[in-house]
Amino acid sequence: MCFVDCTGHPAVPDAHGPLVMVNPVVLAHSGAETGREGCLSLPEVTANVERAVEVSVRFHDPDGVVREVGTSGFEARVILHEIDHLDGVLILDRVRSLALDVFPRVTRSRRRG
Ligand SMILES: [Zn+2]
Repeated sequence: MCFVDCTGHPAVPDAHGPLVMVNPVVLAHSGAETGREGCLSLPEVTANVERAVEVSVRFHDPDGVVREVGTSGFEARVILHEIDHLDGVLILDRVRSLALDVFPRVTRSRRRG
């Protein structure tokens, strides 16, 4: 199970709201775009990750109702990122090059120190 909510994100004006996705499956995807991603499981880095631009997913909601959601752009990226977690895949598994596509995350305390 994973949870996604892009509500209020400036890149997602038409977000689908809170999505609790039980056993989500990617039904279809199209396009490809590389974007910088962070991950709470890897707080020290960000990475360039190629993902589909448009995605359609099917899942059960917490009431057991089957839902299908189609979305694109940042919300699609977030959903694919979270589904990767369910499959044990992290952004470092998705980069083309560990040398060229992974970047240290600059934190406020680091900038001061
Ligand atoms: Zn993550």
